[in-house]
Order: sequence, then structure tokens, then C-alpha cells
Amino acid sequence: MFDLIYRFDPAGRHGIDTPTSAADAVQRLEEGNRIFSRMLDEARAAASRGTMQTRIIPVDADDLGVPPIDGTAPIQRPFAAVLGCSDARVPIEMVLNQTANRLFVVRVAGNVLGAECLGSLDYAISAMSDSVKVILVLGHSGCGAVTAAVDSFIEPSRYLGIGASFPLRAVIDRVIPAVRAAHWGLEQVHGPQVETLPGFRKALIETAVVLNAALNAAALRKEFADRIGPQRQVVYGVYNLVSRQVKVDLEADTNVSIQLAEPPEDAIGFERLAVLLSGSQTIREHLGSRS
Ligand SMILES: [Zn+2]
Repeated sequence: MFDLIYRFDPAGRHGIDTPTSAADAVQRLEEGNRIFSRMLDEARAAASRGTMQTRIIPVDADDLGVPPIDGTAPIQRPFAAVLGCSDARVPIEMVLNQTANRLFVVRVAGNVLGAECLGSLDYAISAMSDSVKVILVLGHSGCGAVTAAVDSFIEPSRYLGIGASFPLRAVIDRVIPAVRAAHWGLEQVHGPQVETLPGFRKALIETAVVLNAALNAAALRKEFADRIGPQRQVVYGVYNLVSRQVKVDLEADTNVSIQLAEPPEDAIGFERLAVLLSGSQTIREHLGSRS
């Protein structure tokens, strides 16, 4: 058994310290996911011992709408802005173990970067420039939008159905560059015959998921260049639906991995990332699997 308790004290205000730097903010997000990903393991361990596990999360009274003066609203003060996927299995605040008023969240299928998303994030770092220390693009394994883009890449005839739908194209077309980059990386590492391997489709999806998040993070960093610096970073990460961890393996050694990282600076950096991902143990396992 496991109790997750959100506790607030109406008399206690600003009881949660806010990150003062970009590095601190990134660390909070990484640590938040570590806590979340371990919760189920701890619950199972507690159940096997016949004990109850309890985790208490303090919530600032202001953030719950308990104002210092009746009739006033809390002030918005997120420390991170997040562009994530709409997938119902990836509730952003929950998987990063954050409470109300900690994150400014934009969710859209495939965490793609359209004009409305860009405008929302622009607002976050302009109107809340004092509090927002990090902008995160969070992809996830098994993403449906990336899967649709991969399927239309592998079987171009499938794109005919998507091409006739402007709303669908608004998502799929934005993922295709990541799919092409992933395909290039897989061919570089495993040769042109990689398409014949049983798990090629799965490997292409999972490699493209990472590159899609990294490409959108790089685009955001370029877009907000005048407001990015030592005090504010743009990073990307990928949430794994199975392990519940925000973690990407980069090499055959699973110890070489990233949680949240800054995107590559240029095309050469993206080529290197595509090759590192394609050669990772995770992708090698996908290539050998039929699932
Ligand atoms: Zn998704």
C-alpha cells in the first residue's frame, strides 16, 4: 500500500523554496521524476512487507488559492515552462512530482512546436521572466503522433490519408524531420539493411521520439535566443512509459544516459546525437525484437 498525501497549512505561506538558477531548476525536475518513478517500486516493496508507505508533498497555501487577503488570487510563479505531449499517460506535473503553480504546461500531440505553442511559451518567459528558469520539451516513448509519422515514412501510401487532412498534417508534418534524422542515424550505425530487421519500426519510433524533442528544444532556444543565458536554459528529455523514468540511453553501456539535456548546437551535433541513439543498447534491443 502507498499513501500519497498533498499537505498544506493555511497558515504557512511560501513554504516551498523556488529554484534560483537554471541548473537548480533542471535538478528539481530530474529529482522530481526520480521520486515519481520510484513510488510504485516502493509501494510494491512495502506491500510485500505488509507495511504502509507514505509520501507527503507540501503544497504552498497560496498556490492552492488560499490568498493572504480574502478575494485575491495567487500570483503565477512557475519555475519551469514545459512543452509536452497530450498523451493521457504522461501527466506532466505528476511524472515530474510537481504541485500547483510550479509548471507552466503546454500540451499538444507529439509535443510539436506550432505557432500557438510558441506563443504560449513566449508569454511564459516574458510575463513570468523572474520565475521561469527552464524551458523543457518532454517527449515520451511509444508516442502516437511519432508512430503515425513513422508509419507514413515507412509506407508513403499511408501519407495520402494524412495529406488530405489539414489538422492531421499540422502534427505529422512537424514530426517528419525527426523521423528522417532517425532513419539516417540507424542506417549509419546498422547499415542500409537495417530496414529488414524485425524491430526496425519500433527502433525508428523510439529514436525519432528523442530527436523530435531535441529538435523542438533547439528551435525554442533559437527563437528565444535573446532571453536564454546563464539564468535560463532550454532542455529536452523523454519519459519512458514502462520505467516511468525521464531517461535516454546514448550508448551500448546503459550507464551512459541523459535525463534532461541541452539540445545540440548545430547539424553536426544532431548527427552525432542520432548516431549515439542508434547505437544505444535500447535501440539495439528494439531492432532485435518483433514487438
Ligand atoms: Zn505522444
